Amino acid sequence: MTVLDETDTGLPQRRELVTEIPGPRSLAIHERRLRAVATGVSSTLPAYIETASGSILRDVDGNSLIDLGSGIAVTSVGHTAPRVVEAVRDQVGHLIHSCFMVTPYEPYVAVAEALNELTPGDFDKTTALFNSGAEAVENAVKIARHHTRRSAVVVFDHAYHGRTNLTMALTAKNMPYKHGFGPFAPEIYRASLSYPYRDPHGLSGRDAAVRSLAEVESQVGAANVACVLIEPIQGEGGFIVPAPGFLAAIAEWCAHHGAVFIADEIQTGFCRTGAWFACEHEGVVPDLITTAKGIAGGMPLAAVTGRAEIMNSVHEGGLGGTYGGNPVAAAAALGSIATMRELDLADRARHLGEIILGRFDELAGELAGIGDVRGRGAMCALELVVPGTTDPDPVATKRVAALCHQQGVVVLTCGTYGNVVRLLPPLVIGDDLLDEGLGVLEGALREVLGSR
Ligand SMILES: *Cc1c(COP(=O)(O)O)cnc(C)c1O
Repeated sequence: MTVLDETDTGLPQRRELVTEIPGPRSLAIHERRLRAVATGVSSTLPAYIETASGSILRDVDGNSLIDLGSGIAVTSVGHTAPRVVEAVRDQVGHLIHSCFMVTPYEPYVAVAEALNELTPGDFDKTTALFNSGAEAVENAVKIARHHTRRSAVVVFDHAYHGRTNLTMALTAKNMPYKHGFGPFAPEIYRASLSYPYRDPHGLSGRDAAVRSLAEVESQVGAANVACVLIEPIQGEGGFIVPAPGFLAAIAEWCAHHGAVFIADEIQTGFCRTGAWFACEHEGVVPDLITTAKGIAGGMPLAAVTGRAEIMNSVHEGGLGGTYGGNPVAAAAALGSIATMRELDLADRARHLGEIILGRFDELAGELAGIGDVRGRGAMCALELVVPGTTDPDPVATKRVAALCHQQGVVVLTCGTYGNVVRLLPPLVIGDDLLDEGLGVLEGALREVLGSR
C-alpha cells in the first residue's frame, strides 16, 4: 500500500543517485559552511537538501535519498505534506506574528483544543505552546515546581530532554550534549531505568520501578519531589522500551506522593509508536505531557498539555515567550493533525513497525553482532554489540550508517554507547520504498557484521 504516491507529492517516491553522496555541489556548499557556520553544529550526512516530499529528500546534486529518519521524528506526515503546505501558505498571507501574549489569534487556541482532546486523560486539560522541545520540558518543570512548591526533579539513566541549561542537566549523556557546558542546574536526581537488554538482574517492570523508587526515596525523599520526568520510550538514549509495568508503577508512585508525572513524548508522540502517544500502550495517564517534533509537519512548535489544575496553578504572565505558538507553526500543526486523522497514521505506524521489526528479527537470527531488536510502531532500533558479548560496538554502528548514507538511505544512530541504529520513517512511506531502504540497510549490516 502506498499512502501517498507521486501524484500527491512533488517528487517521485524513488531513490535515485546521480553523483556520489555528498556530490560536488554539496561539497562546495560544505566548504562555505565550514567557514561560516560554528563547527559545534554538525550534520550526520552533509548532502545539502533542496527539495523534499513524502519520504524522499532531493539534494542540490539531484540525488533522491530515502528518508528513514524524518528529520528526527519530525516529518511523520511526510515532507511538504499537502495539508501542511496548504495551511502554512494560507496562514502566511494573513498573519505571521502578533505575539499571543500581546494580541492573540485563533489557531493557537485550536491547537490547544486539539492537544487537550488527543492526549490521554479523561479530565480537564489546558495547553501552553512553545518553540522547541527543550523549551516545553523547561516549562513543564517550571509548572510542576510552581504547583507542588517543591524543587527536586527526578529523571532517568539514558534520558534525553534537550540542550538548554536546565535540559542539559536533565539529559544523561555527557558527550556531546554536556561536555564542558556546566555548571548545570541544581536539584536534579537521576534514577535507574528499566533497560531490559542490559538489566543484569532481568527485573520485571514493576521490580525495576521498585529499585528506581527506592533510590529516589533514600536519596531525595518523596516529599521533596516536584516531578518525575520520563520518556515512555527513550529516544536519543537508545530507543529503550522499559519492561511492561515500569511506567505505570512510576506514575502510581507520583500520584501517591503528590509529585507531578511528566511524560516527555517529544519523540514518541503523534502516532509515531502506533498510538497518538506512547503512554497509551501501557494505559498510563501522565499529569503533564510535553510534545514537539512530529506535532507540526516540520514547523517549529512545542507544547505542554496536562491537568488543568496543575497547568493553571501558575500566576498570570508566568508562562509564555515571544514566538511560542506562532500562527504559521500553529496552522501547520492543524494541517499535520488533520493528516494523521485522515490517513490513520497510528495504524500505519503499527503496520510499518511489523515490517521493520520482522525484518530485524530475521537478521538478528542470522548475523552475529545484533544484540537486541526493539521498538514500537515506526520507532525501531537495532543494538549492535561485539559478537558473543553485550559490549557495545559503536564502530560497526557508524560504518553501517555510513554505508547506508553512501547509497542514499538516511538512517540515524543513537544510544548512550553510540551503538544503536534507529529508524523513524515518515509514516506515509510506501511499502515498496520502505522495503528498498531496508534492503540497503540489510546489505550494510551484512557487509559490516557478516565479515567478522
Ligand atoms: C528532541 C527531544 C527533545 C528536545 O527537543 P528540541 O526541539 O530539540 O529542543 C526533548 N526530549 C526528547 C524526548 C527529544 O527527543
